[in-house]
Amino acid sequence: MSKPVNSSQAIWLHIGAGSFHRAHQAWYLHRLIAAGDSRWSIALANIRDDATPLLDTLAEQQGQYVLETVTPQGVRQYETITSISKVIPWDNELAALTEQGAKPETRVISFTVTEGGYYLDNQFNLDRANADIQADLLGACRTIYGTMAQLLARRKQLNGDPVTLLNCDNLRHNGERFRHGLMQFLQLRKEPELIAWIDSHTRCPNTMVDRITPRPAPEVAERVAEATGFQDRAPVMGEAFIQWVIEDDFINGRPALENVGVEMVESVLPYEEAKIRILNASHSCIAWAGTLIGQSFIHESTGTPGIHQLAYDYVTQDVIPSLTPSPLDLAAYRDVVLERFSNPYIRDTNQRVAADGFSKIPGFITPTLQECYQRGQEPKATAMLPALFFVFMQRWHQDQLPYEYQDGILDAAAVHQMFEAADPVAVFASDEKLFSTLAHSSAFSQLLRQSIDRVNHWLAQ
Ligand code: NAD
Repeated sequence: MSKPVNSSQAIWLHIGAGSFHRAHQAWYLHRLIAAGDSRWSIALANIRDDATPLLDTLAEQQGQYVLETVTPQGVRQYETITSISKVIPWDNELAALTEQGAKPETRVISFTVTEGGYYLDNQFNLDRANADIQADLLGACRTIYGTMAQLLARRKQLNGDPVTLLNCDNLRHNGERFRHGLMQFLQLRKEPELIAWIDSHTRCPNTMVDRITPRPAPEVAERVAEATGFQDRAPVMGEAFIQWVIEDDFINGRPALENVGVEMVESVLPYEEAKIRILNASHSCIAWAGTLIGQSFIHESTGTPGIHQLAYDYVTQDVIPSLTPSPLDLAAYRDVVLERFSNPYIRDTNQRVAADGFSKIPGFITPTLQECYQRGQEPKATAMLPALFFVFMQRWHQDQLPYEYQDGILDAAAVHQMFEAADPVAVFASDEKLFSTLAHSSAFSQLLRQSIDRVNHWLAQ
C-alpha cells in the first residue's frame, strides 16, 4: 500500500489540459484541499500548442475556474476549483514542462492525451510508422513518449528521484499499456540506461476514470456568471456522477485521495472490465441504434424503449453472467449507467459516441461473445451490437449517415468492398480483427445473420 506523502509542498504535474482533467482529477484534489489537506497541488501543462489560449486564460485566473455539474434531474451545482497552483506555459521544446517534471517536488505525473495519443496497434505495439512517433524517435516532443523520455532523462540527470506516472485516459490496462509503449519507444531510441532507470524508479498504476465531460458549450460561461458572479473564461461542465479507481502502487507518495472518494485498490481490472463492457459497449449500442432511427443525442436514444431494452438485455443476459463474481454490484451499475445516459442536460451526441466502431467491437464486445459461447450460451443479446454496427456501416457505405463517421482505423476501401460482395454478412462475420476466434464459427455467423435480420425488421416497423 502506498502512503500519502508527508512533505508540505508536493507537486502533481498533469500533462493534457483538456476538459476532462479539469472536471475529474483536479476536482478530487480540490476537494481534498477544501477538506483542509493542502500538501499537494497541481501544475498543469500540455504537449500540443492547441491548449495555449486556455493555459493563458487559466494563468490569468490564477489557475481557478468553475466546474458546473448536472444531475439527470437537472440539478446544477457550481464549484470554483482551486487545486491548480501552477500553469506551465507552452514552449516548442517543452522546456518548462520538462523542468517542472524533473524537480524533486514533483512526485506524481499524470496525463490525459486521448486514446489516440498512445499510437498502439491491436497487439499493443507502438505504431512506428506514425509521423509524430518518428519525429519523437529523432528527439522531438510531439507525443507522450518523446515528452516523457525528455522529462525522465532530465530527472535522472538532476536528482534521480522516483516518480509515479499515472495514465488517466480511457484505455484498458492504461498504466501497463503506456509503460509498454514507452519502453518500446526507448528501445528504438537505444536508451538502455534510461530504460533501466525507469524500470527501478517509476511506477505506472492502472486507473479507471469516469465522468462524462462534454466540450463546454458557450452557455456554460453564461450560467456560471449568473450562478456565481465569476466572469469565468475557462469553465467546464460534466455530469454529477464521478468515479476514480486507482491501483495503489505509487513510488514517491501520493495525495490522500481515498479521503475524497477515490477507490484505492490492488487491481483495477474488474472495475475496468465492468466499465468497458457495461458503460462503453452500451453507449456504442445506443449511438448506433439511435443514429439508425434518425436521432442525434444519446439521451433521446436511451429514452427510446426499443433501444433501452437492447442495451438492458445485452448487459443483463450476457455481460453480468460473464463478469460474475465481481466486487461490484453489476445490476446496480447497469441501472446507474443507463440513468446517466438519459441525462438530457449533457447533450452528448450519437456522432461522438458512435465513432471508432472498428476498435470498439474487438475491445468492448467480442470478449462477451466468446465467453457466452464458452459457457454454452448463445449470445443473442450481444450479437445485436455488431448487427447494429453492420447496418450502421451499410448506411455509411451508401452515404446515408447524417454525419461524418470518425474512426481512427477505418479501412474505407475494405468496407466498401465488403458491401459489394455477394454475401456481405459472411465477409463481416469472418473478420478476425473484429471477432477473433469466432470469425471461424458457423454458429456465430448464423447468429449474426439472424441478428442483422432482427435489426432490419426493427427498422422497418
Ligand atoms: P479534450 O479534447 O478537451 O482535450 C484533449 C487533450 O489532449 C488536449 O490537451 C490535447 O492537446 C491533448 N491531445 C490530443 N491528442 C494528443 C496527442 N496525440 N498527444 C498529446 N496530447 C494530445 O478532451 P477531454 O475531454 O479532456 O478528454 C481527454 C481524454 O480523457 C479522453 O480521450 C479520454 O481518454 C479521457 N476521458 C474523457 C472523458 C470525457 O467524458 N471527456 C471521460 C473519461 C475519460
